[in-house]
Amino acid sequence: MVSVPVQCPYCQSMEVIRAGKQSNGAQRYQCQNGQCARRIFLLQYQDRGRVPEVRRQVVDMALNGSGIRDTARVLRISPTTVIAVLKKSRRASTRQPHVAASSSFTRRPRPGRTRRRAR
Ligand SMILES: [Zn+2]
Repeated sequence: MVSVPVQCPYCQSMEVIRAGKQSNGAQRYQCQNGQCARRIFLLQYQDRGRVPEVRRQVVDMALNGSGIRDTARVLRISPTTVIAVLKKSRRASTRQPHVAASSSFTRRPRPGRTRRRAR
């Protein structure tokens, strides 16, 4: 058996163990670092919206003033995924107040709905 070193994409720890498989057969890994925000991760995601690097970009774009549809188009993920990532990042960032700026972003009403009410 050949052991391949796996690094946690969240905390860069090398203390990672294999943790079973997804229903689609992809190998799951578990980070053994107690301080790590994330425990289970995959090395190869089928879904772009799950890739840590893409999720970081979603938050960065929101902080730079990009709209939800904007972000979705550029990163090639769906607008609902963008919203889900932003909601989760808000919960995870209570320890880092500088990311809280995106909170007003998810609550903005859709333009179509407000126009109807004005008439
Ligand atoms: Zn970790």
